[in-house]
Amino acid sequence: MSEKMNFQAEVNKMLNIVVNSLYSEKYIFLRELVSNASDACDKLKYLSLTNPDIAKGNGELKIVLTPDDKNNTLTISDNGIGMNKDDLINHLGTIAKSGTSDFVANMKENGSAADLIGQFGVGFYSAFMVAEKVEIITKKAGEEQAYKWVSNGVDGFEIESAEKSENGTEIKLFLKEEDKNFTDTIYLRHLIRTYSDHISYPIVLNLTEAGEETINSGSALWTRNKGEITQEQYKEFYQHISHNFDEPWLTLHFKAEGSIEYTSLLFIPSSQPYDLFQPDKKQGLKLYVNRVFISDKVEELMPNYLRFVKGIVDSSDLPLNISREMLQQNALIAKIKNGIVGRLLKDLKKRFENYDDYSKFWDNFGIAFKEGIYEDFSNREEIASLSLFSSTKSGEKLTSLDAYIERMQSEQNAIYYITGDDVKVLANNPQLEAFKQKGLEVLLLTDPIDEFWTQTLPNYKGKVIKHISQADVDFSFERKEAKAEEGSLEKLINYMQDLFKDEVGKVESTEKLTSSPVSLTVENGQMSIHLERLMRNHQQQTAFNSTRILEINPYHPLIIKLSESIEDENKKQEIEKISKILLDQAKIAEGEPIKDSSFYVSAISEYILKGF
Ligand code: ADP
Ligand code: MG
Repeated sequence: MSEKMNFQAEVNKMLNIVVNSLYSEKYIFLRELVSNASDACDKLKYLSLTNPDIAKGNGELKIVLTPDDKNNTLTISDNGIGMNKDDLINHLGTIAKSGTSDFVANMKENGSAADLIGQFGVGFYSAFMVAEKVEIITKKAGEEQAYKWVSNGVDGFEIESAEKSENGTEIKLFLKEEDKNFTDTIYLRHLIRTYSDHISYPIVLNLTEAGEETINSGSALWTRNKGEITQEQYKEFYQHISHNFDEPWLTLHFKAEGSIEYTSLLFIPSSQPYDLFQPDKKQGLKLYVNRVFISDKVEELMPNYLRFVKGIVDSSDLPLNISREMLQQNALIAKIKNGIVGRLLKDLKKRFENYDDYSKFWDNFGIAFKEGIYEDFSNREEIASLSLFSSTKSGEKLTSLDAYIERMQSEQNAIYYITGDDVKVLANNPQLEAFKQKGLEVLLLTDPIDEFWTQTLPNYKGKVIKHISQADVDFSFERKEAKAEEGSLEKLINYMQDLFKDEVGKVESTEKLTSSPVSLTVENGQMSIHLERLMRNHQQQTAFNSTRILEINPYHPLIIKLSESIEDENKKQEIEKISKILLDQAKIAEGEPIKDSSFYVSAISEYILKGF
């Protein structure tokens, strides 16, 4: 008796997308099915460590391809873990992985598969790109009953009991007429050698007359000599483990010897994954002990700020029966992690010399990498030296801290920065006017993490890192312009102080502004306005309130005029209105929201009309 079941709605959508949009790259189904077979062998190998009986009589783990050009079918079988009925229903009828359902959601929004598809493993369902029907016969290791699963990829699937003597899975594809070429042995050999050579189990071509022929090298790629591995093979391996379709930007393959021995093969992608900032996304490296697969996504092997690094670690110094809990406290794991981080930083340093090359990495991952300045105490100066920033002098390019130091003026003792939401807005912040006047370079920092690392790295190579509001520079310089008269300026200040008593803590005259009439800043040593805004956005509350200072420029014609009129009773209303506009402008320049935008808009329109 067979049971008929429907695919989960998302699977239907997924199938639709995969079948209809990957038309030019149909061959990837083979890589996906071989990859699943390899995973199934890994799982059985791992289970048999603790339960040797489970793989009794199993023979060598391998993957077999059986083409049949008469009947136009291709069968991919493995003697790995196999699936029981629940597995079939849960793994081949629903989408469990959050990434895949994100994919479907994303597709619905953007409607374009081309850019997105590369970021997801399309997995088992890619079989329906070439098959009009898929028939699976599988038996789970350690269980008695085998099952058959059949589907045309459109109307759900059917499951029934079946006969199979050995554990493992046979996937038979009834090829579409136009996909007959997947029974061609020359083509199959070519595909396996190109896309699946790195698989550590033998991939065997089963030819009725000529017998069995092993196509791939069948040894784990990382165990081979570096000199014998081509870039193409590294790339295929990278795509296999990362489920990415891009080229690796960095490939790092090394063997560490010494107090602990391990081999590692690591990659940095050349494009940014969509989920770099998804906090619940599991990251980390694959762990092998003596070429036996132990665990996927071992977060303990990679610090969070390097979460975009993909790859594997294989060590014979770890116990084979290492558990998840043990990984967390294992001193060897911590040592391997340190070793890996050191090697990665060393390689990044080499690539750092070439700006065009390095900035590709930086554009994709700099924003995560910078978290290391905050997170990785022992490497923070190194990470800072490998970081790039916008600045008032770097132009289109970004600058490093070392390049900044080289450009520093002889009497300058600090690296200055300002924080905000957007580089262009920041570059025009009135607070920078005095720095420009003095020729002092200022870093323009716009990532939330910048607010934090600047607190944990108080100095770099002996130079203090300072927010511009904390600069103790003498900003006075010779000025030829007219200045507001002392007495009336003071009256204006007192007036504004009273008018804005709920919004700013203090109103002050400043020598720092050149072209703007006003500017907003905070008391020295207090939380920056940008950080306060970030906190507010995240906590929905104004629990943070540093004392705002409204600085006014006594050389600005508008301020001069206001202070001249401050005692004119007839202009009382005007003065209030203009003062309010000025405070709003100071807020806008700082990226802060203004209190009453309708007031602002109508007041500005009124003055524009007057000026016409
Ligand atoms: P992924 O491999 O990324 O998990 P797939 O769509 O390729 O996604 O496969 C879905 C699931 O189906 C696998 O995780 C696995 O549990 C199961 N599966 C697929 N092929 C096999 C196989 N040959 N043997 C055992 N299980 C398999
Ligand atoms: Mg898969």
